[in-house]
Amino acid sequence: DNGLSDADPEVRGIIDKEKERQFKSLELIASENFTSRAVMEAVGSCLTNKYSEGLPGKRYYGGNEYIDELEILCQKRALAAFHLDSTKWGVNVQPLSGSPANFEVYTAILSPHDRIMGLDLPHGGHLSHGFMTPKRRVSGTSIYFESMPYRLDESTGIVDYDMLEKTATLFRPKLIIAGASAYPRDFDYPRMRKIADAVGAFLMADMAHISGLVAASVVADPFPYCDIVTTTTHKSLRGPRGGMIFFKKDSVLGVDLESAINNAVFPGLQGGPHNHTIGGLAVCLKFAQSPEFKTYQNRVVSNCGALASRLIDLGYKLVSGGSDNHLVLVDLRPMGIDGARVEKILDLASITLNKNSVPGDKSALVPGGIRIGSPAMTTRGFTEEEFKTTADFIHEGIQITMEAKQAAPSTKLQDFMNFLASPDFPLRNRITD
Ligand code: PLP
Repeated sequence: DNGLSDADPEVRGIIDKEKERQFKSLELIASENFTSRAVMEAVGSCLTNKYSEGLPGKRYYGGNEYIDELEILCQKRALAAFHLDSTKWGVNVQPLSGSPANFEVYTAILSPHDRIMGLDLPHGGHLSHGFMTPKRRVSGTSIYFESMPYRLDESTGIVDYDMLEKTATLFRPKLIIAGASAYPRDFDYPRMRKIADAVGAFLMADMAHISGLVAASVVADPFPYCDIVTTTTHKSLRGPRGGMIFFKKDSVLGVDLESAINNAVFPGLQGGPHNHTIGGLAVCLKFAQSPEFKTYQNRVVSNCGALASRLIDLGYKLVSGGSDNHLVLVDLRPMGIDGARVEKILDLASITLNKNSVPGDKSALVPGGIRIGSPAMTTRGFTEEEFKTTADFIHEGIQITMEAKQAAPSTKLQDFMNFLASPDFPLRNRITD
């Protein structure tokens, strides 16, 4: 059996180019990270060959002696990494990623058309928490369930809990979700628990972005307040791409969460587990219990704080005025520029971040903000000093964007991109230097 270079030089070449891109650029996408060599070794192992539908000890295929050992180890490490008592909490480590994990929870505890409340997508929520436009139910969550978003108070950039409470009292959701893709602050889990109890709803946290920070106890802990906690495994946690669902072992609102969730994962929505991912996840969860991991997560937060304060010093407006976690959201509208153009210019300079809507935005394609995260470059060894310098680079990129927009003032993003590709773009050298 030949190695990849011999067997398929074309794919090898693409991987090498992507590796170089990752190596050379400043990766500031808040949901990304660099996982460890040990995790990648497990993910690239023979574990990918094995079918193991079912749970340890209850499989539909033979030959699962070692796969059972692996999945039990992964479950134990998952509970230990999040400081959970295994008599009170259980975990399913088979979800293929974050969105399937969330849909598995809905399948477990809701009936079609039951009501859900999650943070609105343009205010930092995730698609899988439900999203619809006036014309279309965009997310499957909104197709199969009735979703009513809650939002931020636009004047503070903080979740409007009073409005959430009022709306929940009228809408009577069966599930309330605490969690976000672009929210720089801790959720007020105790308050959300009270609201959920008052309306008889389940409370679920989707800690996908912050799970590494939760494991290291550097942000608020959702577990004492929630019935169910979902997460991806590849963001701040630094594992392979995957998902997990934690559930209370006691029955909640008359539902035995353990069997409902396990059945929703398989046979409800998935087939064979990705055992190579479960192997990589077990490795990541061992590391997540180490003192080095805690140091790393503390740095993720302090580096983000350094980035935020430098941006504020440079005159930028941050949604909520700062950050408690690993990301900042910069509101670019006061500078008369948008996130899409800044993203394009910074891409040319090998600074990778993403455009993001900010509260009050009209367009998701050309939104008014950018989201910047610290986990990946902290893994690469950046300190607060380097994050301040990164803020300066971003500032320069924003200034170049403003100059370029003056030269190409069309409102169409495509015209702006054509201009960047043309010889008329005089600032190209400044960027590539
Ligand atoms: N939940 C949240 C809060 C997320 O931010 C994301 C992804 O960004 C997901 C779920 C979905 O994860 P995946 O992309 O693995 O489906």
